[in-house]
Amino acid sequence: MIGIVGGGIVGLAIGRELTRRRPGARIVVLEKESRLAAHQTGHNSGVVHAGIYYRPGSLKAQLCTRGRALMRDYCAEHGIAFEECGKLVVAVEDSEMARFEALARTARDNGVPGLRRLDGRAIADVEPHAVGLAALHSPHTAITDFVAVAESLAREIVAAGGTVHLDAEVTGVDRVAGGLLVRTTTGTHRVHELVLCGGLQSDRLGRLVGGPAEPRIVPFRGEYMRVAPAKQDLVRGMVYPVPDPAYPFLGVHFTRRVGGGLEVGPNAFLALSRDRYGRASVSPRDLVDTASYGGFWRFARRHWRTGVAELRGVLSRSAYMRLAQHYVPAIGPGDVRRAGLGLRAQALAADGSLVDDFVIHRAAGVIAVRNAPSPAATSSLAIAEHVLDRWAG
Ligand SMILES: Cc1cc2nc3c(=O)[nH]c(=O)nc-3n(C[C@H](O)[C@H](O)[C@H](O)COP(=O)(O)OP(=O)(O)OC[C@H]3O[C@@H](n4cnc5c(N)ncnc54)[C@H](O)[C@@H]3O)c2cc1C
Repeated sequence: MIGIVGGGIVGLAIGRELTRRRPGARIVVLEKESRLAAHQTGHNSGVVHAGIYYRPGSLKAQLCTRGRALMRDYCAEHGIAFEECGKLVVAVEDSEMARFEALARTARDNGVPGLRRLDGRAIADVEPHAVGLAALHSPHTAITDFVAVAESLAREIVAAGGTVHLDAEVTGVDRVAGGLLVRTTTGTHRVHELVLCGGLQSDRLGRLVGGPAEPRIVPFRGEYMRVAPAKQDLVRGMVYPVPDPAYPFLGVHFTRRVGGGLEVGPNAFLALSRDRYGRASVSPRDLVDTASYGGFWRFARRHWRTGVAELRGVLSRSAYMRLAQHYVPAIGPGDVRRAGLGLRAQALAADGSLVDDFVIHRAAGVIAVRNAPSPAATSSLAIAEHVLDRWAG
């Protein structure tokens, strides 16, 4: 019996890969919520990234490229929407051009398929309502429905003889002869091996099996705006800013959704809960965990100015949309309404630095996915291959 903790796309991808590599092995998925994909997998931008941003050679760069191809094939095989509507990364100010050129080099090193560099005039050929000085066009960046992918992976696990337990929060793990005893809120499971994919709870789960205290997770909220139907077709695919390497997750962008509609976002601001989505939600336990972590205060001291700037966009729709209008001037504050929000698991090291790459810890009989930020949904099928290649070895 192999236990998987976490019914998000990463845990389910690993569970499904196990059914393929070890036919006959019994998989048990333990998920604390009453449905699958209830957290990051079900609250994201739905973008299948093509590998533009990631440091060449990093796990993100390798697994995003492979993961995009696997995701495209998986969606085709299982009848899940996969629309290659393409993405523009647009520079709007001279001061961004050095970063833009560096990004172009990174994207080329990562082998982003079909990548083109456009000058300001050519931007309109791809996105008639976008403006800028220059852009990178990635025609194969796609959108999909990651919840549908997660549900499909779970069906495959069950079809192979596995089980999925919902409302089963893992509260403790004990080592026993020949395996591990996993305690949940609905019962105990004896497993030979255990895979932890807890997303926003990954540090807490890691500690349950005696793993290192770092990296710790600090939750960040990301809020989206939905563009009114009258203007939603002004953007055909995706329009993104040039990211600041210091804050890779910042930068409001336009993204089409499968099934229709256009969204702007997400912004990013400290969240006071890891799993509650109300605008004023606070979890005392999560708040204490963040506030008692020295790494968070080191991060905050270094980046408070950026935090204050981001807060303006959180509090004011006009401030939020003024940024977005640098890229698509025709969509203004009056054309959007607040839509959903996502909670992002941001891993922070003890020195206050953001942990950028995927982090996977291994111990006897246990694999712990400790950091799986964007593009982990894109990369999930490749993360599963990667984890199991090394586990077997
Ligand atoms: C706002 C936002 C936008 C993003 N946009 C994109 C994008 O466009 N493209 C992309 O590729 N990636 C994107 N990402 C990142 C992507 O969503 C995540 O990297 C991915 O979903 C991680 O999957 P996961 O399975 O590790 O985590 P999750 O989906 O968070 O799943 C973890 C699961 O573990 C469960 N769990 C936790 N603790 C326990 C416990 N003790 N017992 C049982 N179960 C437990 C949780 O309930 C949860 O269901 C985005 C993320 C955010 C937040």
